[in-house]
Amino acid sequence: MSTARALVTGGAGFVGSHLCEQLLAAGTDVVAVDNFATSTPANVAELVGRPGFELVRHDVTEPFPDLGTFDVVYHLASAASPPDYLRLPLETLRAGSLGTANAIELAERDHARFVLASTSEVYGDPVVHPQPESYWGNVNSIGPRSVYDEAKRYAEALTMAYRRERGVDTGIARIFNTYGPRMRADDGRVVPTFIARALTNAPLTIAGTGEQTRSLCYVEDTVLGLRALAAADHPGPINIGNPHELTVRALAEEIRGATHSRSSLEYIPEAVDDPKRRCPDISLAARELGWRPLIPRTEGLRRTIEWFAGRPAVVAAQPVR
Ligand code: NAD
Ligand code: UDP
Repeated sequence: MSTARALVTGGAGFVGSHLCEQLLAAGTDVVAVDNFATSTPANVAELVGRPGFELVRHDVTEPFPDLGTFDVVYHLASAASPPDYLRLPLETLRAGSLGTANAIELAERDHARFVLASTSEVYGDPVVHPQPESYWGNVNSIGPRSVYDEAKRYAEALTMAYRRERGVDTGIARIFNTYGPRMRADDGRVVPTFIARALTNAPLTIAGTGEQTRSLCYVEDTVLGLRALAAADHPGPINIGNPHELTVRALAEEIRGATHSRSSLEYIPEAVDDPKRRCPDISLAARELGWRPLIPRTEGLRRTIEWFAGRPAVVAAQPVR
């Protein structure tokens, strides 16, 4: 999987920082580009100064400065948590459209492999379950979530058009819910929210009935999937996720147990257009990439809880309701 030089847009983010770390460990030089819209340089602080790593502050919706040439371009720059993209609706649409065009043109210039970090959100509130890549989705194109879902759908369309029209070597990964160390406690996503609240014995905020499901993939597995797609020549889309599905309520109880917390369960209004079920069919990734997730949820949650527990200042950043 080793490649000489990689560009990672959104490289200071949660997934991006783990990707940079794995690439460097595999002997790949990395340039991480980020405007810190939803992250801080702290995520890659340990990488800055290491040989082969460069962090550049840049907004991908603007033309790239001269960063040298690349063998692979991973395009992750985009708000990703629902509260973040609802707070940054126009920025999210621009990152998916202009940002994707700029990143893919860089890959075209260098004859590099281009990997798009797309999402299970392209399936919207799915009526096919589990979701195979052949399912076209059920997205409300004018609802509040559409700024993210449609930005990613457009990014996929753009990626395929550059592939068909201009011969760019592209791969689309549809990433399902990923969790792990370096998520922001206040990013609003379910795992960091429940862990931060459990560690402080605050109520665990279950949206709606808690019967909605998600399938959670540990970040190291997700990153291995992205790298496997980069090393392959498959165009995708390919689902990258963990098919072990559970309800949000069961997750709350699992995290409460794992943290030995005294938190109560508190029911709050459900999110608009919240997908009711989500689970990846990963047979294509297994067949084409030889990839499947390896870290069970108990172990992934243990590592994530340990990370948050060691950082009281991060935990204190949880949203106050
Ligand atoms: P994140 O918010 O932690 O990281 C996104 C990064 O992109 C941040 O560092 C942010 O500052 C940066 N960014 C945003 N707009 C930018 C711009 N215009 N220019 C430069 N940088 C910009 O989110 P994440 O969870 O790490 O997600 C990374 C990617 O993976 C996103 O594209 C997201 O859509 C995709 N994804 C993530 C998940 C998940 O569960 N984490 C699931 C599906 C898809
Ligand atoms: N959720 C919840 N309580 C929270 C945060 C999220 O019940 O404090 C729910 C949310 O409504 C959704 C699920 O958990 O049904 C996953 O939400 P997340 O924001 O992590 O990811 P996404 O909606 O993008 O799958």
